[in-house]
Amino acid sequence: MDALPAAAPRSTPPDEAAAVDALGRFVAAHRTLFVLTGAGISTGSGIPDYRDADGAWKRVPPVTLQAFTADAATRRRYWARSLAGWAPFAAARPNAAHHALARLQDAGRVGMLLTQNVDGLHQRAGSTGVIDLHGRLDQVICLGCGACHPRAEFQMSLLRRNPGWGRHMAAVAPDGDADLEGVDFAAFDVPDCSACGGMLKPDVVFFGQSVPRARVEAATAGLHASDAMLVVGSSLMVWSGFRFARMAAAAGIPLAILNHGRTRADDLATLKVQGDCTRVLPALAGQAPAAGASAARDAAIQPRA
Ligand SMILES: [Zn+2]
Repeated sequence: MDALPAAAPRSTPPDEAAAVDALGRFVAAHRTLFVLTGAGISTGSGIPDYRDADGAWKRVPPVTLQAFTADAATRRRYWARSLAGWAPFAAARPNAAHHALARLQDAGRVGMLLTQNVDGLHQRAGSTGVIDLHGRLDQVICLGCGACHPRAEFQMSLLRRNPGWGRHMAAVAPDGDADLEGVDFAAFDVPDCSACGGMLKPDVVFFGQSVPRARVEAATAGLHASDAMLVVGSSLMVWSGFRFARMAAAAGIPLAILNHGRTRADDLATLKVQGDCTRVLPALAGQAPAAGASAARDAAIQPRA
């Protein structure tokens, strides 16, 4: 594709009709989108966001891989909190924004869907080929032998070994972790891998851990095969997601961002709009023509001087 010159982001007034209008023009002008979603798309499903509108932590930052692997007490605390947080997390359902992206994909407008979320809600909404950049919380992986165990089975094991803990009510967090303070974790019993006795960890990328290279390469290929990039519900404060915005800018791939508040890529964006993605995306999906039905799309691309 022809590289488009960098341009200052066009700000849209914070009313959603304008957001739908501006994003609608953006989508109509590009055949296939590389879509990157973050925690903001799942807040409408009851899974809280990590960060506020300025990109700062709302809660205590999640456990790091280093702390998790080095310290048994950290693991006990992690799994005890996770035990309490799992049920509401597992019960979360995809919302209108997830369903809208699935419809856009059905219409041929989504080349690839990459998510920073670990909740699996895009797949449950019917999206296919989703790359879970940071893994999936519904799997537990053994750091010894690499075996994967369903989190639901692991939950039963945790409950059997720790009777009474299932009664703890706690506020669910984006990573399935939970607020559970004033509790003595010392007696919490965490099972090891049933196959090799190794340490078990949720199959998600922890802070301080790298995203598997093959996953990054697959997503990078998806970006370069797409005509534009759309970020939904992410402040892009974490490098693993931000780098795709950087790659898009470097390759001249137009970037649109739909997010509440500022993002790390605002100065890279072709278009930045604010609005509730559970309303904006369904409106967008309702008006977007299918790929191939938009004969004039190339003419609709407005090169910026
Ligand atoms: Zn194992």
